[in-house]
Amino acid sequence: GRKSLKGFFRRNLFVLFTVAAVALGVMLGFALRPYNLSLREIKYFSFPGELLMRMLKMLVLPLIVSSLVTGISSLDSKASGKMGVRAVVYYMVTTLIAVFIGIVIVMIIRPGRGSRDSPVVKNGNIEPIQATDAFLDLIRNMFPPNLVEACFSEFKSRHNLLFLSFKPYICIINSCFCCLLQETVEEIVPVTSSSAGVNALGLVVFSMCFGLVIGNMKEQGQALKQFFDCLNEAIMRLVAIIIWYAPVGIMFLIAGKIVEMKNLAEVGGQLGMYTISVIVGLLIHGLFVLPLLYFLVTKRNPYSFIGGLLQALITALGTSSSSATLPITFRCLEENNHVDKRVTRFVLPVGATINMDGTALYEAVAAIFIAQVNDMDLNFGQILTISITATAASIGAAGIPQAGLVTMVIVLTSVGLPTEDITLIIAVDWFLDRLRTTTNVLGDSLGAGIVEYLSREELQNQDADLRNSVIEE
Ligand code: ASP
Repeated sequence: GRKSLKGFFRRNLFVLFTVAAVALGVMLGFALRPYNLSLREIKYFSFPGELLMRMLKMLVLPLIVSSLVTGISSLDSKASGKMGVRAVVYYMVTTLIAVFIGIVIVMIIRPGRGSRDSPVVKNGNIEPIQATDAFLDLIRNMFPPNLVEACFSEFKSRHNLLFLSFKPYICIINSCFCCLLQETVEEIVPVTSSSAGVNALGLVVFSMCFGLVIGNMKEQGQALKQFFDCLNEAIMRLVAIIIWYAPVGIMFLIAGKIVEMKNLAEVGGQLGMYTISVIVGLLIHGLFVLPLLYFLVTKRNPYSFIGGLLQALITALGTSSSSATLPITFRCLEENNHVDKRVTRFVLPVGATINMDGTALYEAVAAIFIAQVNDMDLNFGQILTISITATAASIGAAGIPQAGLVTMVIVLTSVGLPTEDITLIIAVDWFLDRLRTTTNVLGDSLGAGIVEYLSREELQNQDADLRNSVIEE
């Protein structure tokens, strides 16, 4: 009784802190805007936020590896296979639904109709990318030749990409498509420290195979299994400490962004309608479609589940990175929603890397918006191509800020749209990025809940086996 009461207070206290942090951050940001702070001053001001980002990123790598290895090695291969199939089906279905919603919304609202009202910055001739290349690159990145490099590669300058005419903060590395883009973008310059990337996809694939092998080694693999188990536990304890700092960090992240933000009045007309299209799509997907799916499968209340996720969702909003949010997502699911650890450890790292409903929806809307701006009528085949490449682009996008903007290139070139028109949507991307990241995290988390429900039989069998073996001993 008392313990659960304590838990309740603690949980809600955190939620309260986090919500208050967002509100304070917004107020602080707007209060400081009239002072026209210089970029340097803004940087100093957002320092506490930068620290939070760094702390979270620091934990992501060991978290992905340890949770996947222990998650998979503690399931028998049949159970993990079934769970894996369920997760992948869920990812595919929800991503395609998201793309579909995006396409319908942007076709109805038609934000790009009328003549183009903003000049386009030409960005050199960009070689078209074939959809095949995009897919091959995706698969290529599943097998990193150098694991250590995959962990902390500050990609060499050739891999770093900056659309020079874009704002400096847009220098992003996309861990999955960087090699591909490096050949296609003319302007390649060294990138700032904030964009150092991780080839998460490669690590996910490796850790899954490693976990599978360790699981099959039975007795012999025990030492390794315990090692990763311990590592995982230790990381989660670090998360429990960092979580106290999170509201402060989030407050400064949000305030800093608002101070830095360009004048909103400029975002009128087509761009405004485009922003609204993306937001409406994300809201429909996140607040209705995904919860409905969760309800239909589990017959449980999706909104109380989402309530338990609030802190993760707000962290996603603050950091605009689903990878950086991963530690908090773990904690919310395990502590608040009591999702089985065997499921979260397996499903969450994979989800954060490949399942991005919000990004997929946004890519589809943006591509069709750019087609509308260019007065280009898309036929059914082209729309189908956009749905497929938007899905691939969302799988390929790393869980880092504005990765989706980079993978847009693939969608655009697949239907022959001018890639330099990405500049049209950059002004609002930092904002939409936060919203789509939140949707991404929501999709991953509801997915974990759904997979747990569908896998309850295997989990119970496993528990029974475990009990029997303990009794035998
Ligand atoms: N920032 C997004 C994420 O981390 C990816 C994107 O840019 O769409 O989930």
